Amino acid sequence: MSTSLLYHTQGIHDFKFESFDFTGGQTVATIHRDEDKFHCPCCNSLRTTPTFIGTRKIQSLPIGSHRFFVRVKMHRIRCSDCAAFLMEKLPFITSEKARYTKALARTVIELRPEMSISAIAKYFGLHWTTVKEIEKKHLKKKYKNVPLSEVRVIGIDEIYVGKNRYLTVVRDLYSGAVLHVGEGKGGDSLEAFSLRLKYSTCRIETVAVDLSAAYTSWINNNLSEATIVYDHFHVVKLMNEKLDKIRRRTMSELEDEQKKMLKNKRWLLLKNVENLDTDKEKSLDQLRETYKELGDASILKESLRNIYSIVPDGYMARVAFQDWCKLAIDTGIPEMKTMASTITSHLDGIVAYWNEGITSAAMEGFNNKIRWLIRQAYGYHDQEYFKLKIFDLPKLRIVKNL
Ligand SMILES: [Zn+2]
Repeated sequence: MSTSLLYHTQGIHDFKFESFDFTGGQTVATIHRDEDKFHCPCCNSLRTTPTFIGTRKIQSLPIGSHRFFVRVKMHRIRCSDCAAFLMEKLPFITSEKARYTKALARTVIELRPEMSISAIAKYFGLHWTTVKEIEKKHLKKKYKNVPLSEVRVIGIDEIYVGKNRYLTVVRDLYSGAVLHVGEGKGGDSLEAFSLRLKYSTCRIETVAVDLSAAYTSWINNNLSEATIVYDHFHVVKLMNEKLDKIRRRTMSELEDEQKKMLKNKRWLLLKNVENLDTDKEKSLDQLRETYKELGDASILKESLRNIYSIVPDGYMARVAFQDWCKLAIDTGIPEMKTMASTITSHLDGIVAYWNEGITSAAMEGFNNKIRWLIRQAYGYHDQEYFKLKIFDLPKLRIVKNL
């Protein structure tokens, strides 16, 4: 292997190729640093005396189907200028202790959107955790300082990630970029983001958020100039939660056999009616007739969704929501009464949705990606890695088992 091939295929320069060794399906090239390239690691002087102390084996990109390693002759360098006596540094590895070259790490990163961690690990003969660490290091660097200066419209969302744990995600709703991922939910989870806002020149004009009090008070304290929008996605989400609460309450009052029937009907109630086939539609009608409260609430959910698909402007929306609240209260169902009172007290922010041009599709799309990410949970016991993967979600195409 010529020295220039070493440079062009493996990104290793200032080193000379000595010899090959082929054993156990591996190709190992012994290399050493050019005699005139022994810089002092401390002051960069070339007036140095190297002493050979042993070799170090580092994995690089495969050649054909063979794993390829370089065996580097390592030296301790004594500097005549600053008197330092230090181990030579290898410029082609990612960190002092890395056992792989930058070229290999770069290829792992390039392949990652197309291949699972396990597939990459198997292909290169690396350990699973090594591949994960390479990606983690890359993501950490990439998302260290997500710029805020151009941000105008943000969305704040809490996400249930299982085992009683929540994360709060802040996104730029125009660019789709993730700006912050905090542990927990409510104002505390936004503490680090508040600090960044304080030192940023950004002027956030609109915040889309769910209807819980925790985020509203955080917005009032930290972004008092911004318009709060309780967007389509969050209003319908809350309505679905109420509907499910009624289903569970109804179920608890039933005999075991009937209970089973209702248990399997959760998705039937929560799904949008236009997505049901004829059989499912019939079954929903039957359910609505059998359980009056559930029937009423399910119809109210559809009419709430209709407001969003039909009503053209904020003024009409206000009237429509007021009418909806009257109907909801008239049912006498406790969960619907609470929903009506939540809507009434948040009406300005709900109606603001029509004026602020936020689309619900982007939020739903992102939430689907998060759910997908959570399903891949076997790889995310490492919380820091999981959070970094959330930052990377907007760029992600969903491929199986990543
Ligand atoms: Zn020196």
